[in-house]
Amino acid sequence: MDVPPREPLDPLTIPRFAGPSTFARLPTLDEVGRADVAIAGIPFDSGVTYRPGARFGPIAVRNASRLLRGYHPGLDVRPFATQQVADAGDIACNPFSIEEAIIQIQAGSAALHGTVDRLVCVGGDHTIALPLLRTLRERHGPLALVHFDAHLDTWDTYFGAAYTHGTPFRRAWEEGLLRDDASIHVGIRGPLFSPDDLVDDAGFGFHIVTAQQVLESGIAGIVERIRTRVGEAPAYVSIDIDVLDPAFAPGTGTPEAGGMTSRELLGVLRGCRGLQIVGADVVEVSPPYDHADITAVAASHAIYELISLFAAEAPRADRRDRLRRSAEATNVDGAPAGGGDP
Ligand code: MN
Ligand code: MN
Repeated sequence: MDVPPREPLDPLTIPRFAGPSTFARLPTLDEVGRADVAIAGIPFDSGVTYRPGARFGPIAVRNASRLLRGYHPGLDVRPFATQQVADAGDIACNPFSIEEAIIQIQAGSAALHGTVDRLVCVGGDHTIALPLLRTLRERHGPLALVHFDAHLDTWDTYFGAAYTHGTPFRRAWEEGLLRDDASIHVGIRGPLFSPDDLVDDAGFGFHIVTAQQVLESGIAGIVERIRTRVGEAPAYVSIDIDVLDPAFAPGTGTPEAGGMTSRELLGVLRGCRGLQIVGADVVEVSPPYDHADITAVAASHAIYELISLFAAEAPRADRRDRLRRSAEATNVDGAPAGGGDP
């Protein structure tokens, strides 16, 4: 028998400003044992090139998520009721060694995948995407990257350092983590070092949707470009909150004028329904530069949008049910859901 998901605390019983500091006041992963989706914080910001502070991102995003509610009217789903969502806590990592932190993040995310189908990680700076992609590459093969950012993040080195928040996707391509024909940046804008930046980036197999093109094509046009580019490939969604204009995300380390609105970002994400998204991150929220939690609220809603996309995948749920039934019918051990006492 299936155990119904354990949902966030009822805000009509326990006020939103009380209760646990988990994302959306969800149960912890320890409390539920396994999860279809888990939120994990990765409080690491030693890879930044300008303003630090994203190590405090997970705390701020969890706090801002207290106001999220259980029903998503745009997608007509109840994301916490139809799948088990849990807070997996933080993947702790070394703030003094980027190389060691990357190893710890890769190991930590791989360990979580023992009991979690899909992880949504909260940074932290964008360095964390590389080890998360490594983990998912092992599970799914090369991935399509849907990358929301003001910046390409395909630069080579800074001060001789290969692993920084400006280089993860060049490293990922070099390591064979990404497909050559299915990745796309959205929201790119601002000055570059040279035209070669774009030549290099195209050589790594990326298409670019600039922030200006978001304005010109509208949400539907951008969604179409993403869907055409990604197709049926297993996709990783990486959201650098600086894809938003500083008016919508002041609390970030490398702000660039002329960005997307939070409404546009949420709309584009919603349009990604049906893509085979296998994991995601939301990074670069730097609370010391935030005002009135603007940035943290935007990040918490982007995460809610992602969780809701997973809930909208009825065919996948059907497939899982079929697998579970067939496992039960053949008395195969190890079907994780539904076993044991609630
Ligand atoms: Mn950026
Ligand atoms: Mn970035």
